[in-house]
Amino acid sequence: MKALVLDKYMELNYRDFPKPTIEANEVLIQVKACGICGSDVHGMDGSTGRRQTPLVMGHEASGEIAEIGVEVKGWHIGDRVTFDSTIYKLDDWYTRKGHYNLSDNRKVLGVSPLEYKKHGAFAEFISMPAHILYKLSDNVSFEQAAMVEPVAVAAHAVNVSKIQPGKSAVVVGAGMVGVFVVKMLQIAGANPIIAMDLDDNKLELAREFGATHTFKSTDKDVSVKIMELTKNRGADFGFEVVGISETVNLCINSLRKGGTAVLVGNLKPEVTIPLQKVVTTELSLLGSCAINGEYELVLDLLASGKISVDKMISAVAPLSEGAEWFSRLYNKESGLNKVILMP
Ligand SMILES: [Zn+2]
Repeated sequence: MKALVLDKYMELNYRDFPKPTIEANEVLIQVKACGICGSDVHGMDGSTGRRQTPLVMGHEASGEIAEIGVEVKGWHIGDRVTFDSTIYKLDDWYTRKGHYNLSDNRKVLGVSPLEYKKHGAFAEFISMPAHILYKLSDNVSFEQAAMVEPVAVAAHAVNVSKIQPGKSAVVVGAGMVGVFVVKMLQIAGANPIIAMDLDDNKLELAREFGATHTFKSTDKDVSVKIMELTKNRGADFGFEVVGISETVNLCINSLRKGGTAVLVGNLKPEVTIPLQKVVTTELSLLGSCAINGEYELVLDLLASGKISVDKMISAVAPLSEGAEWFSRLYNKESGLNKVILMP
């Protein structure tokens, strides 16, 4: 089969690659669409240590079932599917407790830290256990389905917060996941929804996706404006979707006493936080990791038209042109959001 292979750091080749074989509990998927994730773009230079070469990356994908293992029940060849970006064991303490996103030894598709290698979906075929599959409605396209993973990351963050209708929220960072956090907050009934970013284009997108107010994070009056919008208390909830000290502090400093910050971004392994503010105003800091079953919710929202992802898709291109698109994203070409590759 053909695949887009990271042969060396910064060197992607569209070339022949061994077609995966399947185990009894697995299916073979013929990939129809796979989105380029920011983590693939950051990872291709070796800086994250999670893309040991050679590797086929890609974990935001959709396709059709091409082969079925002998033990697999309930799925048929030709079924249109998307799948979790994580392979987790069913027989795991965390999985049984309902937290498969925290399960031991889980593997992310298209990722290779030192401990494992699981080739991903920038290829004609990919194999995986059947229990991570989700069926697509006829009115959800393969390209749209390749966007479900980043939306589900946002949906998980909003689920972790347990926010209720009418509560105020700030979202710090209006990139792909941040914009979808805004959308999920709108669906959850949050009000006002205040988005902050450095980039005017991203703030405009945030408004289109449901932000009631947007501010540049460098704006000196930003804390005054947030107080004005929240009855001089500060926001009930904050969502941090960047992961550096400045933005984590901006998020925490936007909260009212007793407020809750949900930390999603993790660009840096460590940040500083205003400890005394957290302690003396009894803030809750919650981590949100990946996805814990929010695929069905997002697929239902897509199928019913309550959420639209088309605006975030900048380009759909053949997999053979993947190297060029990766380098355009690596060089941070402005206005480029999601690029989807089709094998
Ligand atoms: Zn991703």
